[in-house]
Amino acid sequence: MPSPYRHKDFPLSSLNQGGRQLVRVHCRYCKRTHNYFPDDLIQIFGDVDVDSLMDRMTCEGGKHGRLDVSAFMPTGSQSVGLRIRRLVAIKIHRVPVWRED
Ligand SMILES: [Zn+2]
Repeated sequence: MPSPYRHKDFPLSSLNQGGRQLVRVHCRYCKRTHNYFPDDLIQIFGDVDVDSLMDRMTCEGGKHGRLDVSAFMPTGSQSVGLRIRRLVAIKIHRVPVWRED
């Protein structure tokens, strides 16, 4: 029986089990859709619940509200020409913090 305190109902890592599922993120406002590998998203957000990405991810076009996030398994014909957004690098902003002595 699952614990009532379980927060990860559907973690990103579960998408790698039993086939290679991808994550599709769609903005209803500007109609952008991007496909991601779960492993790339895990590097950024950790192994979080897939549904929680709706609130964690933001549209690059602006503040367009919650994004539609769904996991899918590309079928043979779908995977032809399917563009997948890959993580190239994570840039870390260095913010100076000062103190008067
Ligand atoms: Zn948008």
